[in-house]
Amino acid sequence: MATKRMQAYQDVLNRTPKHIDFDGKVSELFGKNVFHLEVMREYLPSDAYKSMNEAIQNGTRLDRKMADQVASAMKDWAITKGATHYTHWFQPLTGATAEKHDAFFKPVGPGRAIERFDGDLLVQQEPDASSFPNGGIRNTFEARGYTAWDPSSPAFVIGKTLCIPTIFISYTGESLDYKMPLLKALHAVDQAAVEVCQYFDKNVTKVNATLGWEQEYFLVDQALFNARPDLMMTGRALFGHAAAKGQQLEDHYFGSIPERVTAFMREFEMEAIALGIPVTTRHNEVAPNQFECAPIFEECNLANDHNLLLMDLMEKIARKHDFRVLLHEKPFAGVNGSGKHNNWSLSTDTGVNLLAPGKNPKSNLQFLTFFVNTIYAIYENADLLRACIASAGNDHRLGANEAPPAIISTFIGSQLSNLLDEIEKNVKAGKMTPEDKTELKLNIGKIPQIMLDNTDRNRTSPFAFTGNKFEFRAVGSSANCSSAMIVLNTMMAQQLKNFKAQVDARIEKGESKDEAILHQLQKMIKESKKIRFEGNGYGDEWVKEAEKRGLNNFKDTPRALEAWGDKKFVKLFNDLNVLTPRELEARQEIEYENYVLKLQIEARIMGDLTQNHIIPAVIEYQNKLIKNISGLVDVYGDKEGKKAAAAQIDLLSRISIHLNKMKDAADVMLKERKVANQLENAHKKAYAYCDKVKIHFDEIRYHADKLELLIDDELWPLPKFREMLFTR
Ligand code: ADP
Ligand code: MG
Repeated sequence: MATKRMQAYQDVLNRTPKHIDFDGKVSELFGKNVFHLEVMREYLPSDAYKSMNEAIQNGTRLDRKMADQVASAMKDWAITKGATHYTHWFQPLTGATAEKHDAFFKPVGPGRAIERFDGDLLVQQEPDASSFPNGGIRNTFEARGYTAWDPSSPAFVIGKTLCIPTIFISYTGESLDYKMPLLKALHAVDQAAVEVCQYFDKNVTKVNATLGWEQEYFLVDQALFNARPDLMMTGRALFGHAAAKGQQLEDHYFGSIPERVTAFMREFEMEAIALGIPVTTRHNEVAPNQFECAPIFEECNLANDHNLLLMDLMEKIARKHDFRVLLHEKPFAGVNGSGKHNNWSLSTDTGVNLLAPGKNPKSNLQFLTFFVNTIYAIYENADLLRACIASAGNDHRLGANEAPPAIISTFIGSQLSNLLDEIEKNVKAGKMTPEDKTELKLNIGKIPQIMLDNTDRNRTSPFAFTGNKFEFRAVGSSANCSSAMIVLNTMMAQQLKNFKAQVDARIEKGESKDEAILHQLQKMIKESKKIRFEGNGYGDEWVKEAEKRGLNNFKDTPRALEAWGDKKFVKLFNDLNVLTPRELEARQEIEYENYVLKLQIEARIMGDLTQNHIIPAVIEYQNKLIKNISGLVDVYGDKEGKKAAAAQIDLLSRISIHLNKMKDAADVMLKERKVANQLENAHKKAYAYCDKVKIHFDEIRYHADKLELLIDDELWPLPKFREMLFTR
């Protein structure tokens, strides 16, 4: 009888690409399923359109009458797209998105019904919130939470449902999601950055944070996926010996994309484009069966919604093509894991990218200001940056010589480093002479040239400057970018506020504006120097060097998450009105819970797989060997028979050794798990899972993977890496 694995593999061999028909122009498809401003202009009376525009640009509230008009227009438009239901689409702290569908349809009498959707339903909905993580914020008395419309992100239709982006809050007004604090952080950085821009350009009234994410993922055939309980339940292969061929030939990166995969990509891209997601690039990634998708950057809140939407779309469409998408940070040991680079910058309503050098010394000083402030913010808040990317999945990546280390530092390239060094050394204290000023202007004027020549690309830095933006490279592939973007924009807002206060104080003391800015930048360059690192972030030398510099290296999630409770950071979030201490504490608690749950599931599946899949297969093979050996002894007699069966006997004993060791390690893990489960406190439990339970995973796996190599291929129950990673 063939194993499930063999049957699954047969399915894979029989697959053919499922191309979709699409002959239209892609440009005409763009945003087709989005209730964006252009559509609103068509569907809304002009005063309602104006209020909506205001609400989108400046976050102003819509009054009830306007909300009714918008709701009605939204419904009419959605019905033309075939929608029958609507949902508030939100981002609970599980990391996924959530929705609760309600019908437009409403019976109004015997045999009579209307399609109803008014301002109330648009603005607010009450999903039963008690089953979403809340970190103790919602006790049973106030089990209700509600979702509230975010007009700054447009509604869209997927399938037959109108989706309305919303924030998710408890009945007492505390945030239970990622979107609300993100919007607050974006507001904070907007205000702080506008203030600083005033030194350079009085016309700036709004600054948007921009985000361009790059999503990495793996594809695996659905049949093979279904034959691997670990992939199904945890998103990663808990067992599996590396294939003979991995990524060592470096033939996958930018190689040609297999046809079945192209068909899948094309379909999800078309869907994404209709939803207004500007996906433009796609390519293979480093590991076999690993790919990347990156749209053009957008305003941060919108970009993040789009990322979540895309992850969702990818998963849905993959199934149609008999694939499963793996968004886990490390689905397969031995080949690269997946990240999600967050390219980030700030841009003004006058069309200036504040992290791109300008055309003249004045705009370059502005660039330098934002550039150095970012570096300083990274220096001040490194632990927070580490905390916001921490997860059980990302622990497998960070510091594993394929992804940035767990040490936060920033790379800016040698030319900009030289420039900062020059400012540090050569800007004179006190009043500057006209000659000083001319020289400085000359130096600062050189920046655009520097950037043109700048070909430095350091792929080993967690936070690299890449010419006109910073790239936060340590974010995990399955993460909601908001976690990183809340931190980054909040810390930047605080930094810019501090900077403004310090420069103003200098001006008050008699320095000219330019002098004050330069002196302040000089001071910051000096103080934050240790956070800059230009070398190889993957090397062991960096770990030692970072330790000398006093930079933290939190190797696992429980330790990284401590920063959320640090007084300094609690004050930061509170001062900027992004998260209250209570909200922050709840978040930390949820993160610890999530970590425990992830590891708990992995530990259980590991137990199941060894016990119910691997051990039975091994025993079957042992029996085969035993039968063979005793058969040989029957034929040749004891002495000669054993001689003839030497290879089998050797194999049998090696199998027994690994089997016993695997079983022993699994038993110890099980015992530790039971102890850990007794702990009430999520924080303590997370440490127990990390230090007492997880440490046995490698040992169990080591022996299981050895057994995979030893026993009959026909009997091995789990699809092998070579099948999952190289079948198309
Ligand atoms: P890679 O990192 O793979 O080499 P790039 O450096 O070309 O690729 O990164 C391009 C990414 O940076 C894209 O997702 C793009 O949208 C984004 N990006 C470019 N400019 C900005 C900006 N001003 N703000 C945010 N993201 C940006
Ligand atoms: Mg990148």
